[in-house]
Amino acid sequence: MTQDPHQHARELIACAGAEKPQPVQPDWLKNHLADCASCRDYADAARQLVSSLRSLAIAADPSLVRNTQLQVRLRAAQLQQQRERLLLVWSCCSLITLFAIVTSAALWPGFQWLRDWIQVSNLVWEIGYVTFWIGPAIAASILLFARGTHLAVRNGSSHQA
Ligand SMILES: [Zn+2]
Repeated sequence: MTQDPHQHARELIACAGAEKPQPVQPDWLKNHLADCASCRDYADAARQLVSSLRSLAIAADPSLVRNTQLQVRLRAAQLQQQRERLLLVWSCCSLITLFAIVTSAALWPGFQWLRDWIQVSNLVWEIGYVTFWIGPAIAASILLFARGTHLAVRNGSSHQA
């Protein structure tokens, strides 16, 4: 070991961890503390410092406690509101998807009849189907999402005012 043994011993003592009242010491450190009075004093001082810090009572200002409790309750209410909104959005998305599947399946024979009556190719028919059947739902979803985001931002700013 090229390091100074006293410095190494003090580093081990300092890094022993304040969470353990009686840290497990390596045999080398035990032997060194038995032989070296200055490192033993350092270890005792470190132990006394930790115990005195543990006995120190820290009291917060009552207004600080009230303000912190108020902020925590406010944040909890905001998180609850966000969860409820998210649940509503997922419920709406699930219902819309289910409704789209059911109505598409129900109206599909009518669309096939229309395709045969108009006599267009499958590619043109599929593009037209997507444009006129699914396109409006996607556009409405984007508009509702943008409006919801706008309302959330506006309501969020009015809560803080
Ligand atoms: Zn020493």
